[in-house]
Formats: sequence, C-alpha cells, structure tokens
Amino acid sequence: MATNTEHVCIIGGGIIGACTAYFLNKAGLRVTIIDKDKFGAACSAGNCGYVSPSHVLPIAVPGIVGSALKTMMSNKSPFYIKPRADISLWGWLYKFWRRCNHKDMMVSAKVKHALLQSSFKLYDQIVADENIDCEWEHRGLLFVYQDQEHFDHFDKTNQLIEREFGVGAKRLENKELIEFEPALKPEVPGAYHFECDAHLRSDKLMASLKTLLESRGVEVLEDTSFQGFVANGDGGKASAVLTNKHEIKADYFVFATGALTPKFANAIGCKVPIQPGKGYSITMPRPARCPKTPMIFEQHRVAITPFQSGYRIGSTMELAGYDDSINRARLDLLRESSEIYLHEPYCEPVENEWFGWRPLTYDDIPIIDRTPKWNNAYVAAGHGMLGLSMGMVTGKLMKEMICGEQTHIDREQVSFSRL
Ligand SMILES: Cc1cc2nc3c(=O)[nH]c(=O)nc-3n(C[C@H](O)[C@H](O)[C@H](O)COP(=O)(O)OP(=O)(O)OC[C@H]3O[C@@H](n4cnc5c(N)ncnc54)[C@H](O)[C@@H]3O)c2cc1C
Repeated sequence: MATNTEHVCIIGGGIIGACTAYFLNKAGLRVTIIDKDKFGAACSAGNCGYVSPSHVLPIAVPGIVGSALKTMMSNKSPFYIKPRADISLWGWLYKFWRRCNHKDMMVSAKVKHALLQSSFKLYDQIVADENIDCEWEHRGLLFVYQDQEHFDHFDKTNQLIEREFGVGAKRLENKELIEFEPALKPEVPGAYHFECDAHLRSDKLMASLKTLLESRGVEVLEDTSFQGFVANGDGGKASAVLTNKHEIKADYFVFATGALTPKFANAIGCKVPIQPGKGYSITMPRPARCPKTPMIFEQHRVAITPFQSGYRIGSTMELAGYDDSINRARLDLLRESSEIYLHEPYCEPVENEWFGWRPLTYDDIPIIDRTPKWNNAYVAAGHGMLGLSMGMVTGKLMKEMICGEQTHIDREQVSFSRL
C-alpha cells in the first residue's frame, strides 16, 4: 500500500499517463512522467475528442468479419489490413474473430459500460472543478446514415443498447434531422442522436493537463525513454527505471505506453495482446456552415468534430503494424466521405494532418493490472478507440490499485488473466 511519501514513475505521457498522474498526485504521492517524445503528442493528440458512453458495443460484433472482409484489402475502405506474415497479428485476429458472437459482445459491453459511465462522470466533475480549458461540450453525437436501409437496420442495435444499458439514441427522420442540423444535405435520410455523449478538443486537453500537473508538482520529463528496470534485490520489485538519460528511482511504476506496450513484453513479464490500429485526422478552421453537433457517418466510418476553435475530420482503421507513413489515399477518403453528407465538408487552410495508433485489444477492454513480473509495476494500456473516453476512470483505477484501495470497478474484468 502506497504512502504519501512514495514516488510513482509513469512511463508514457498520453491521456492515460496524464489521468493516472492526476489521481496519484491528488492522493498525495510524488509523481514523475517520462515520455520518449513530447507529452501528449502521440495518439492522445489528434483524436476526434468524443467522450462517448454510447459506445458500449465492442468492435467484435456478429457479422463484422464478413462485412470487413469484403472491403479490407482495398486502400479506399475505412478498414484495411496490410497483408503480411505477422504471428502476433494473426493470433490477435483469430481471437477477435472468436469473439464475434452475441454472448461475448455483451460480456465486453457490460465492462465497457461500467468504465464509460464512471469516466464520463469524472470528466464532467474534474473539467469543472479544475477549470480545464478543453472546449468540453454536451451536444451528444449523431450517427448519420447515407441510405434508408442502413438507417432502419441500426434501429435494432439502438433498441438493444437502450434496453440493456440505457444509452440509446433519439431517432431523427430526414426533416427533423435537417431542422436540427442544417449543415447536413437535405437528401440524408436520418440519424440517431446519442444525447448522452460529450466532446472536447483533445490537443487542448493534453496541453491543459500538462500545465495543471506541473503546477501541482508533477515532474514531466520529455525525450526520456524507458529502457529497462533495475531490480531491488529481492527479485519481486523494481527499484528504478533506466532511461536514455539517467536512472529514475521510484516505489511504483506504470506503463501507460498505449499501442507501443507490446514492445515491453520482457520488462512486463508476458506478451501483451495489443495491435496498433492506425487512424487519421485532418484539423482545419471551422467551415462557414459548420455542424453544431459532432457526427459519425456510419456507413463510411468517418467522424466530424466541430470545436469552438476549429474543426476535425477523423477516422479509418488500418492494421498495418507500426507503419508511420501517412497514406494520402486514406486522408482523401476522409474528405470524400464528408462531401456526401455535408454542404460544406471542409475549410482551408489545413492546420494539421495527423495519424495515431489506437492500442487495440481483441475484446475491446483495456488492460489495467499489475505486471506478472514485478509486484510494484503496473500496465494501463489497450484502450482502443476509446482511450480518451476512458482516461479518467483508468487514472482513478490505477490510483486505487497502487494505494491498495477497493477498486470501484471489478479489477478482474480489466486484468491480464481474463485474456
Ligand atoms: C483517428 C483517431 C480518432 C480517435 N478518436 C477518439 C475519440 O473520439 N474518443 C476516444 O475516446 N478515443 C479516440 N481515439 C483513441 C484514443 O486516441 C486512444 O485510445 C488514446 O489516445 C490512447 O492513449 P494512451 O495514453 O494509451 O496512448 P498514447 O497517447 O499513444 O500515449 C502513449 C505514450 O507513451 C509514450 N512512450 C512509448 N514508448 C515509450 C518509452 N519507451 N519511454 C517513454 N515513453 C514512451 C509515447 O511517446 C506516448 O506519448 C481515437 C484514435 C484515433 C487514431
């Protein structure tokens, strides 16, 4: 059990590392974050900014493999797998495929629901209490359809998530939708409005969290990469991390290294079944006819986020390993899809073209647990498409685990052992 004089070293300054630092600092512990690059510059920077309790269903749902197979080899599809011989990828895909059934979908959904509900409440409270400048807004999220058939088909899913979790959407037919959101073209047949969701500007959130953490005494060391642990002698505990710069002694350690976590399998003591799922975004000024509500074009899997200070189009899912090239065809896909639905789909000049690697687990549940190798080192990674949404709950859970408290979410459900 941690005491107030103890020191925690967090490896990784994304949203998960930042929220973990926030809760540990509040509990009175000394905290250092190290990042191999810049704090908040990896997957937590350019994401779509949705904090979405509505997203309870996992990626592995019945029928997804069939529909993905039809399109996945095309460079123009929202979902793409780069064909390659990679044992970890094929093992991951096999386990993913095995979960594409109603029973496993509901198992994941129940865990996600608990995590998302807790995190949403924490965001709402902490953004207000700490006066965090991140353009936090409760406008909900629209799932917009291109054709009537797909629009009607989603009704069944909407009823399911309303019945089981109480997070269903309001169905808006064409006329009502265009009145509600005139930025959409009149031929769009309809949308579902998830009123329970909120959004924020993720790059601004990360900058504000850095300022807040440093003002509270959290040390943030950039360009400092984890290279290994020093054992403290009894074998079960680490006493320091080795970095490219110097050794950092601490009492507890947390890997908040997102999609890169599998690279630390030796230090963690087991393989970590996370695949990088590359997505893109384009950030620009607000168009004149800017939507007021964030929206996902479901049939194209493209997301739009109107911020107070800008506008972002994002998405696509590419399983291409740690490929850090920017694929022009995928960026074009974001623009082309938006043209189908919006009067004014984008605006010049483009401020940023970005990609991030989502840390994907095959059951769509993060791993928040102690490492098998060290009694005082933990992993908080694998948040997939919802790492921003689950940031706060993860920080709180890590604090509870390190401080030896009863966790407010069943820790078994986010453990290594369930995988
Ligand atoms: C296009 C796109 C849109 C998205 N939209 C949303 C959304 O709307 N809502 C939502 O909830 N989620 C969204 N996500 C997902 C979300 O962005 C991620 O789940 C989340 O950012 C993961 O956070 P993280 O802290 O785990 O990882 P990261 O932000 O990637 O942080 C990990 C950090 O670890 C550091 N690191 C790695 N190795 C080392 C080392 N050896 N030493 C020191 N530091 C190291 C890295 O430099 C990095 O800064 C989106 C993702 C993408 C790609």
